[in-house]
Amino acid sequence: MTFHSFLIKYGEIGIKGKNRYLFEDALVRQIRYALKNVDGEFLVHKCHGRVYVDCEGEYDYEETIESLKRVFGIVGICPVVRKPVKELGELKKDVVSYVGEMYPEGNQTFKVEARRANKRYPMNSMEINCELGEAVLDAYPQMKVDVHTPDVRVNVEIREETYIYSKIIPGPGGMPVGTNGSAMLLLSGGIDSPVAGYMIAKRGVEIEATYFHAPPYTSERAKEKVVDLARLVSAYAGPIKLHVVNFTDIQLAIYEKCPHDELTIIMRRYMMRIAEHFAKEDGCLGLITGESIGQVASQTMQSLAATNAVCTLPVYRPLIGFDKREIVEISEKIDTYETSIQPFEDCCTIFVAKHPVTKPDVGRIEKSELNLTEVIGDLMKTAIETAEVIRVEA
Ligand code: ATP
Ligand code: MG
Repeated sequence: MTFHSFLIKYGEIGIKGKNRYLFEDALVRQIRYALKNVDGEFLVHKCHGRVYVDCEGEYDYEETIESLKRVFGIVGICPVVRKPVKELGELKKDVVSYVGEMYPEGNQTFKVEARRANKRYPMNSMEINCELGEAVLDAYPQMKVDVHTPDVRVNVEIREETYIYSKIIPGPGGMPVGTNGSAMLLLSGGIDSPVAGYMIAKRGVEIEATYFHAPPYTSERAKEKVVDLARLVSAYAGPIKLHVVNFTDIQLAIYEKCPHDELTIIMRRYMMRIAEHFAKEDGCLGLITGESIGQVASQTMQSLAATNAVCTLPVYRPLIGFDKREIVEISEKIDTYETSIQPFEDCCTIFVAKHPVTKPDVGRIEKSELNLTEVIGDLMKTAIETAEVIRVEA
């Protein structure tokens, strides 16, 4: 079967009034972005409070569906057969041949749901329903009408053209990216942070990212891996502005001047401060990390409190209550897992203490940080000024 269009179903909650336009416009924009690398020509448009993707000529069906499944805000994707508007006898033939091709077994229960947007059509919806239902029954005697819980709802919409569809392919849900402000993701090369970015983007939030590396202790390849991860996330989240910060001198200073069991926490606090600087510069409304309670020493409740204490923006931790297994499942689903497990060194694992504190006291950490007073201002300034900006797109 050749489909000529896709009707995009989206959630209606919270999109009344002016919000509705913002939501729909963002949805249209994100659909265009998702389809830009797909073979084929697509016209994405709003019409009578609905969003359609019209396919002009040949296109790759599977790839189109895969791409649409990555657009947040889409609840269902209906492949549509479009026909010219015809008088009843011809319309019956079109619908009967559609049903025959879609359901060759011919033993389902069904219901015809006609809608007449084109009021010039000489019959009303009820009459069309009856006529078309009868035609289908005549053609496929094994099928039965069930108006309450049919296996198949055959939708027939008469507009400038006739749209016939029955199948609904589930979309990812969520809200279109761009409808809920933006946030700064602390993106490492691990499994967790790409998943955290994905989850916040799913709620309509645009994502920026900051990555800290420590050359020459971490390699160019480790950085490439993070760029790859950002690209994979951007297939869902849209283009991502990635800040790559050289963290080496700050880490060396911490290593030299602070108690070794506090290294990770102090390092985390400087990461948060720098990420927050970029976040505020670009108007982001929050920070995002891939932390989950108790996963490692730096993610106990006390450690999280100590890291949180340096931030004034809210810190979103969408994985906070997830087990590793659950996070891995999502990373497999969104296709970041294979990249995340590539074995490249991470800046946090290089200067790590043998016995890190698991219950850091904020007061004590602040006191340790005083040892950095003389150097840290300049080091932070340099790290911020020399950060590289990479614009990543799927
Ligand atoms: P991930 O799998 O996301 O790397 P993790 O389990 O390795 O997480 P940690 O390394 O303790 O956990 O990091 C906790 C969070 O801190 C990460 O999820 C990420 O948001 C942030 N983070 C850690 N290292 C970096 C880094 N090098 N650059 C940017 N953010 C980082
Ligand atoms: Mg990590």
